Amino acid sequence: MTRSPFAPRRLVRYGAGLAVALTIVGATVGPAVLAQTLPVQPAPVQVTTPAQTTSTAPALTVGETLPLTLAVTEGPYFKANSPETTNLVQDGMQGTLLTITGQVLDQNGNPVANALLDFWQANASGAYDNSGYTLRGHQYTDANGYYTVTTVVPGLYPGRTEHIHVKVQAPNSSVLTTQVFFPGVAQNSRDSIYDPSLLLNITSNADGTQSAAFNFVVPTA
Ligand code: FE
Repeated sequence: MTRSPFAPRRLVRYGAGLAVALTIVGATVGPAVLAQTLPVQPAPVQVTTPAQTTSTAPALTVGETLPLTLAVTEGPYFKANSPETTNLVQDGMQGTLLTITGQVLDQNGNPVANALLDFWQANASGAYDNSGYTLRGHQYTDANGYYTVTTVVPGLYPGRTEHIHVKVQAPNSSVLTTQVFFPGVAQNSRDSIYDPSLLLNITSNADGTQSAAFNFVVPTA
């Protein structure tokens, strides 16, 4: 490979900061050494934005607390001992891919690390897997209280609008059992369990998938 000694274009690519650094190095060790050392500079790193796009806890004034996430019925299809996974999607699964991300917070707006979330839901046709653990899985929030779950948009089943069940539990605290819902579903208004405070904030992506945000506020005692 031909290496150009001290190519100005490379300086431009690496930016002004490195240009200054190279100037300093050049003054110390001379251009001959620079020509050898430049190629081992790491390639420019592609800066990626973090996957977490959910805003952090809202600012609270002194004495103000967040309302707990509304608890709603567990329904008949919860199964204990779900696998620990953040990805409920399996090969060949039908439906619209959906990733839900958010935080678990306490009532003071502080993130809850190591909180348990246990999701279960119907498939895109509205059927639960009651013999196995398809579309069932639990996970724990990270140090900043974040969770993310990849799944599919559930289908309707008789009497119910689209929803995903979840149990959320801060460490050593009581379990909050609830469901999250999808905006714009006609059946929402006819579903007795539906509550607008439990609506996911959905973004439809260009590739046909959906991203959703939802923060849970849970008891910490
Ligand atoms: Fe259900």
